[in-house]
Parts: sequence; C-alpha cells; structure tokens
Amino acid sequence: MGRIELLPPDVVTKIAAGEVIERPASAVKELVENSIDAGATRIDIDLEQGGTELIRVVDNGHGIHAADLPLAFAAHATSKLRSADDLFRILTKGFRGEALASIGGVAKVTLQSRRAEEPAGAEIKCDGGIVGDVRPWGGSPGTRIEVRHLFYSVPARKKFLKSAATEIGRTTDIVEWLALSHPGLHIVLRHNGKLVYDIPASASFTDRVALFFGGNVRDGLYHVDSGPADDNGLRLQGWIGDPAIDRGNAKLQYLFVNGRWFRDRSLSYAIQEGYRNLIMTGRHPVAFLFLTVPPDQVDVNAHPTKAEVRFRENSLLFSLIRATIKNRLLKENLVPRLTVAE
Ligand code: ADP
Ligand code: MG
Repeated sequence: MGRIELLPPDVVTKIAAGEVIERPASAVKELVENSIDAGATRIDIDLEQGGTELIRVVDNGHGIHAADLPLAFAAHATSKLRSADDLFRILTKGFRGEALASIGGVAKVTLQSRRAEEPAGAEIKCDGGIVGDVRPWGGSPGTRIEVRHLFYSVPARKKFLKSAATEIGRTTDIVEWLALSHPGLHIVLRHNGKLVYDIPASASFTDRVALFFGGNVRDGLYHVDSGPADDNGLRLQGWIGDPAIDRGNAKLQYLFVNGRWFRDRSLSYAIQEGYRNLIMTGRHPVAFLFLTVPPDQVDVNAHPTKAEVRFRENSLLFSLIRATIKNRLLKENLVPRLTVAE
C-alpha cells in the first residue's frame, strides 16, 4: 500500500470542475445565469461543434470591474454573497463562486467586460487554470466570454461527450427553460454560425409559450395560483392547459422550483391526478408550474447540472399541485372523459 499524499492543486481543480461542468450545456447554463444575474436584457450564445470547440456568451449586463477580473477565475470567488447567513441563498440559486473557476480550469477562456459607467473595458485570459494579466479592452458595455476547447486538459472527460448534435440538443433544452422562466430576456442561440433560436423579449409568459409551442397551446391555458404562501411556505403559480389541448406525451409539462427548471416523476403524476376523469388514459395535460418553496425545504444542489431536485416534504407538494389544478379545472365546465379505472 502506498503512502497518503495530497493531490496536486491542478488535479483538485479538474476534479472540482468535473462536478460543476459536466458538458458544454452545463457551461452554457452557468454563463447565461451569470448574465441574468448581471441584469442582462440581451444574451447572444454562439457554439461551435456542440460547444466543444467554442462557447461564446455576450451580454449587455452590468459588467465586471477591471480590478475584479483576476478574481473572477478564483475558486470560491463571488460578488453575490457576503456572509454565512446567505448560505441558503447560494444553495437555491447556485451561487457557489465555482463556475468560472471550473470552466477556466478545463478550457481556454477569454473574459472581456466593461461597466457602462467606465470609458473602456478590460480583458483577462485563463488557460487550464493559469490566469493571465488584465489588459485594456475596447468593447461595448457588458460581458463577453469565450470558452474554447472545453476539457482539452481533461481528455478522460472529453471522451464522455456525445456527438455535436446531442450536445447542442442539451443546450437548446437549457435555453428553452431559461427563456420560459425569463420572458423579458432576448436570447439568441447560434450553432456553427447558423441561427437556432432568436427569442425576442416577450411581454408575458404566455407570449413565450406561443412562440415555442404555438398559439393553440397559449389560447388553451388557464392561470393557476394557490394564493399567498401556505403555512409551509409553499406556493404554486402557473398555467395549465384545457383538456382539449392534451398531448400524447408529457413534454409540455414544465416544473420550476424557485425559478429553476426540474423534472420529477411523482409531481408529474400529481399533475395527471389533478386532471383525473378529464383526460383519457395515455394522454397528458399541458402544464407550466412555478413552485415557490422555502430554501431549506429543497436541495437543488444534489448536482448542479442534474435536472432532479430533492424536497423535504414531497407529499405536501404533491397535494398542492393536485388540489390547485383540480380546483381550477372545477371552475370550467369541463365534460368528463373516459378514463380507465385503477
Ligand atoms: P457565482 O455566479 O456563483 O458568483 P461564478 O464563478 O459564476 O460564481 O462567477 C464569479 C463572479 O464573476 C460573479 O460573482 C460575478 O461577480 C462575476 N461575473 C461572472 N459572469 C458575469 C457576467 N456575465 N456579468 C457580470 N459579472 C459576472
Ligand atoms: Mg455563476
């Protein structure tokens, strides 16, 4: 048996990076969330080869102070929390101060930024964890980040990536949920120079629905709201579809917790239960549900890129979803449909 030794720092960085950044789509998610946090109203995303060659995110947010640029790539560096009291806030929002450090550790990154009130901006490069000098940059206000050759320094991780088509598919999923949960945002996505999405700012959530899923889906929606947070601090708001616009699969069921998209089989079943007797077996209702859950009741941090989250009281959410949907549908004079008995 060998002796115990500390791992070299660059190996530690690569291990940590693998946990935060699993694939190009996870890098896109982190970068776009940073842009949203910076108050951006327009975000342009350019990918090459599914994001493995290049990920470029350009925003018109508030930018980064030139003097702060070297810290942007430091592990555990964030401008978004100041004390341990904010800890739950990091857990819910994913402010871990790790994203740029991780991406910088496993790719060649150029970060350029200018604050609107400054006459000029600055840039800094990070290559496999090695941070360069701050230099002047003449761009317009906002932040521009280019990530080239993701995982070039971690060949073992690179092997796990799928084809460019699969990787870009995961990114479009993320762009869709970010667009749905931030209607005011203008998002443009290009892949290998071709336009994939140009999603203009919408006045409302339902406009976004129309854009993605058509006017037919938008016009078949009912607004739901469980009212102010209940004793457990839970609230459900959103939109549910008339049974007439049901689907052959559950793809048009979107769940968000505290603004973040997730998947949950049991809560999908709660949706289905809310429609009991109103849609036929094998058909699936349309639903876009935004849950508000106290931060200490939900663990979104099981893994930053995983779509699943863990709730302390899953059954309370199940009941809330089923009851809210059921009560809302009762207000419409809907005709029961044939369902197969249990
Ligand atoms: P976190 O978002 O958890 O704070 P990150 O590693 O994602 O950590 O980012 C580190 C810091 O860099 C952020 O706290 C923020 O101050 C700054 N930053 C990153 N991206 C942007 C951006 N697009 N616009 C403005 N500031 C940014
Ligand atoms: Mg971040």
